[in-house]
Amino acid sequence: MDTSESARLFREASKVMVGGVSSPVRSFSSVGGNPLFIARGEGSKIWDADGNRYVDYVCSWGPLVLGHCDKDVVDAVLREVRNGTSFGAPTVPELELAKRIASALPSVEKVRFVNSGTEATMSALRLARAYTNRTTFLKFDGCYHGHADPFLTQAGSGLATFDLPSSAGVPAGGTSVITIPYNDMESLDEAFREHGGELAAAVVEPVAGNMGVVPPEPGFLEKLRGLCTEHGSLLIFDEVITGFRVSPGGAQGLYGVRPDITCLGKVIGGGFPVGAYGARAEVMRLVSPEGPVYQAGTLAGNPVAMAAGLATISKLDGHAYSRLEEASTALEEGIIRGAAACGVEVTVNRVGSMVGLFFGPGRVNDYSTAKASAHGLYPRFHRKMLEEGVYLPPSPFETIFLSTAHSDEDVDATVAAMKHAFKGVSA
Ligand SMILES: *Cc1c(COP(=O)(O)O)cnc(C)c1O
Repeated sequence: MDTSESARLFREASKVMVGGVSSPVRSFSSVGGNPLFIARGEGSKIWDADGNRYVDYVCSWGPLVLGHCDKDVVDAVLREVRNGTSFGAPTVPELELAKRIASALPSVEKVRFVNSGTEATMSALRLARAYTNRTTFLKFDGCYHGHADPFLTQAGSGLATFDLPSSAGVPAGGTSVITIPYNDMESLDEAFREHGGELAAAVVEPVAGNMGVVPPEPGFLEKLRGLCTEHGSLLIFDEVITGFRVSPGGAQGLYGVRPDITCLGKVIGGGFPVGAYGARAEVMRLVSPEGPVYQAGTLAGNPVAMAAGLATISKLDGHAYSRLEEASTALEEGIIRGAAACGVEVTVNRVGSMVGLFFGPGRVNDYSTAKASAHGLYPRFHRKMLEEGVYLPPSPFETIFLSTAHSDEDVDATVAAMKHAFKGVSA
């Protein structure tokens, strides 16, 4: 496979862009080799700068639930662009998208649009702190909530101490955050027993999608909901990935657990930079201009981005979700069959069109079991899959995403390619 043009572009990019990329995971540093420059996409396929074609399972890290260049999304975007791209004033597309979100999520009466998932979670935390008049918050190991300072921490030693920064430039002790293992009921009890009265919020990915895919165990989200209510803390669901992807009502619709604040992003932007946070009116009225919590954005609610999101969500009917489920089930079963045939032990975690592939036999239900999987095999697997024309996430701790554009033929070809790749890694 010739990827010399990508290699040349990457060398050039590395001179003028940090690491040659605009976001670190794109650099292929987890899998080795150079990142591919992508020239275009159509449906389930992408083409790199050398003209190689791939079935795309990154889907822009989740937003492209309809695949690339869906005709209705492209039409809506072009229509909107011709009207003007930004006004810094209210427009109809944001009103329409807000109505769609509020009707899809019973926990949300009002929303505020922002430009990224990072802004959504950052603002949701500020809101929860203002609402409760508390500072500390609880999060879960292996969950990702964007790159705002308070979330860039790792668990300290036990619950007695607060967490340590996980990035340079984040002040130690400045964040008042407690991190406990995902799906761990005992730690949950302990954290609330010791700190419940101080917790402004608990923030969670209701399906974890940034340590591979780790679904919530039965009772975990329910217990978290109960403890938050009992201790007067707000429950923040980070549905930046899961919103409109795992069900029309997101993970909260799928599991029937109602958060106080919901963060959205990815799918609601239809491939454009969008985030949002929402809650019942009684909570949202604290946000400026109704209330004292300051939060603003020059390009927030951008009409082109809103039109893309609206066109995307409008196509997510029952048929679309069944198609996602069908294709994703076929991929899951194909992976398991293919691995078994090659004598490679794998664990597949799947919620709808989010698929997590872990090497190794053990159950993966939190970050430590995700890390304990034999992810050392992944770089070779990833490389072989590229050679087979399949573009998987360039990190073992990311989600494989399907879109409604992924056909049975795509999945069959992927499963066939995986058999070769599994043979390659087991050899
Ligand atoms: C992607 C992601 C974010 C951050 O969104 P950005 O748009 O990249 O800032 C936050 N939370 C979760 C769960 C995500 O997957």
